[in-house]
Amino acid sequence: MTRIILLLFLIATTIFGNVVTKQKWKYGQKFTNYLQTNGVSLDMLKSLDELENQVIGEIRGGQVFYEVKDDSGKLIEAYIPISSTLQIKIAKNKEDKFRFSIIPISFKEDIYIGNITIKNSIWSDITSETHNSNLTKKLQKALKGFSAGISKGDSVAFLYSQKSFAGFLSGSPEVRIVKITKKGKEIFVYIDEEGNGKSEPFESVSYVIDKPFIGKQTTKKVEIKNSAVSSKFVYPVRNPRITSPFSYGRYHPVLHIYRPHFGTDFGVKRGTPVMAIGDGIVISAEYQSGYGKVLKVQHGGGYMSLYAHLDGFRAKVGDRVSRGDVIAYSGNTGTSSGPHLHLGIYLNNSPINPMSVIGQESSSFDLILDRIADVVSTKTYETKKIPIVNAIKYREMLNSRLNSGEQTYDWSSDDDKKTKLSEDDFE
Ligand SMILES: [Zn+2]
Repeated sequence: MTRIILLLFLIATTIFGNVVTKQKWKYGQKFTNYLQTNGVSLDMLKSLDELENQVIGEIRGGQVFYEVKDDSGKLIEAYIPISSTLQIKIAKNKEDKFRFSIIPISFKEDIYIGNITIKNSIWSDITSETHNSNLTKKLQKALKGFSAGISKGDSVAFLYSQKSFAGFLSGSPEVRIVKITKKGKEIFVYIDEEGNGKSEPFESVSYVIDKPFIGKQTTKKVEIKNSAVSSKFVYPVRNPRITSPFSYGRYHPVLHIYRPHFGTDFGVKRGTPVMAIGDGIVISAEYQSGYGKVLKVQHGGGYMSLYAHLDGFRAKVGDRVSRGDVIAYSGNTGTSSGPHLHLGIYLNNSPINPMSVIGQESSSFDLILDRIADVVSTKTYETKKIPIVNAIKYREMLNSRLNSGEQTYDWSSDDDKKTKLSEDDFE
């Protein structure tokens, strides 16, 4: 309650008498109609270019947006999210004319505390004290394997972060650390990047360690060549799931931020074997800002494939690789919002859509991959310990906030927070 009042107060002091409200875009409402209804001249749209017009077409019925109105109810500003990072801003300029712009969404992220002594049962007590069902769900995931046996008199303390935009919640809460006090014994639960709880502040990741794998796989390749795969290339991972497709996009001279995506992203867990999409020679395996650990394979016919955000290399520069060879392990290095594999394919140094040359009907290839995976699984594994980012920092922060006597944050005290936004509101 105090937070939102403070935020509204801040806004009110900069734009006196104005009120920010969260709205839902009406189904079927045209952008021009919205402007006219709010007394905005359509002249504003004359100067828009193709990209900006395209972006307007992406506003969807039911999506959340924000309006700033003066005390007589006149529109002053509107903010309409068009992706998880960008929003349309409509606001008056110095000449009192409405202007259209596309700006990044700047979220505010706060860290809240929960400190709950169990009276009845852990989950009903957490739900009733925090009034936040999303948070309860995240805690259930984090405490899988840890929550059994927590009973009356024990306590569960935790930190979690929550993003907000213009004073409204945005996205789900993320649990950062949990401290369980069970019969006087303290247990810390550290949270990995996927929201799972760990008993120590690091994660164990398994790697295949034997080296002559690439050479040994040659016999397997015969089966691939005899199979019914007709396309030039094959998927770089088993059970491929595309999370972001290729797009030429266009560099925008004004926005500076709308970028093309010269590749296909596959959602995979860190440590997933990455396979060569075709026969070729490894021409580079290095760290680059942006792409992180990146490996490139030169194929025949002027094709080159690029595998980015890798956790580790398996093949090295100069290696001859065959289609299906495990050449690297996927990861989250470079500029990457989560573990995934970025596959780029270039023809004579120009990016092309990978999916245009990758076999869509690769069921026979999947079979071969299964066999290769069997071979992989019989190999020796090594376990590497990777520290969980900020685990120690959050542990110290939780202890110091507990020592200062801070109480569980109660989301029921503000009506607006009952209608929480989800990530979907911005996608
Ligand atoms: Zn990508």
